[in-house]
Amino acid sequence: MIMHSWPVPKIEYGPLSLVEEERSVALLYSRQAWEALAGKLRISISWQAEVLDATEAHWLDLARDLRGEVVYAVGGGLAVDAAKYVASRQQLPLVSVPTALSVDAFLTWASGVRRAGCVTYLETKPPDLLWVDFEVLAEAPASIRAAGICDVLSIATGSWDWRFAEERNENLPSTRYLPYVDQVAQGILQGVLDCAEAAGHGDHDGLKQLLDCLVLEVQLCNAIGHSRPEEGSEHYFAYSVENIMGKGLPHGDLVGPGLILMAGLQGQDVGPLKRALKACHIPLTNIPQTVIDTTLKQLPAYAREHGLAFGLAHVLDQGTPGVLPRLD
Ligand SMILES: [Zn+2]
Repeated sequence: MIMHSWPVPKIEYGPLSLVEEERSVALLYSRQAWEALAGKLRISISWQAEVLDATEAHWLDLARDLRGEVVYAVGGGLAVDAAKYVASRQQLPLVSVPTALSVDAFLTWASGVRRAGCVTYLETKPPDLLWVDFEVLAEAPASIRAAGICDVLSIATGSWDWRFAEERNENLPSTRYLPYVDQVAQGILQGVLDCAEAAGHGDHDGLKQLLDCLVLEVQLCNAIGHSRPEEGSEHYFAYSVENIMGKGLPHGDLVGPGLILMAGLQGQDVGPLKRALKACHIPLTNIPQTVIDTTLKQLPAYAREHGLAFGLAHVLDQGTPGVLPRLD
């Protein structure tokens, strides 16, 4: 079998008014994001659609009618995941224009799709180009502006799970624990702990450092072919909550609390993680307590049922190294 690993997109930094696009554009967008751009992006749109949910049926519908020579994605994870899917299916180039640093999906080659009560990642393609206008990112609503920090802070809990799985002989040959990769991941984690305050304020340097950390995190996972250093029980918690509540809460609102809860249960100091999340205005109390209780109770069965890579989530019911922390 031929193996491959994907690159991250080329990134252009500059005002959106400098985008010069001669091709006809098929635009996929999230409504709020598109409205926030208020005409800053001058492109000739031959077809457009609002992305409404992360299901393959919806994306197939979009791909079927699409017309244009290049796909543009304006918005967050929902828009870019759909755009990666349709661009890869129609073999079209893809330009992503993020309006907030809300997730790492702008940089990855996979599209997260909701399927049978969980999130599955389909191999699609990374955007060919990412247009980053720090003025636009800085003006995003505070709670999503730097929410992508969750996908780097999740190194704290994801890498813990990876080591835990190694101790228990639960890693697969393809995902075996690599100490040097873990060390690189810890360096990237330190990078976002250092820039959380500035990125949360919308300082351009802080946002640049957060983006650099996201790029490094994605490249690290691309190189080794899996995301064990970055994804673990905190994401499983998020997927399970989403399954109970239905779509509606942003990724950060789910992963942020998941991070704190799992780090506490793993016996880690949650202080620095909580400070970073608060500095980036990630809401930690948007999930109802009853949903948190149900989710924690169901998580071991949920993690096994969906075949998720082994972590603390799988054995939450067998006693934990730490205790449940407060979220406020
Ligand atoms: Zn994530």
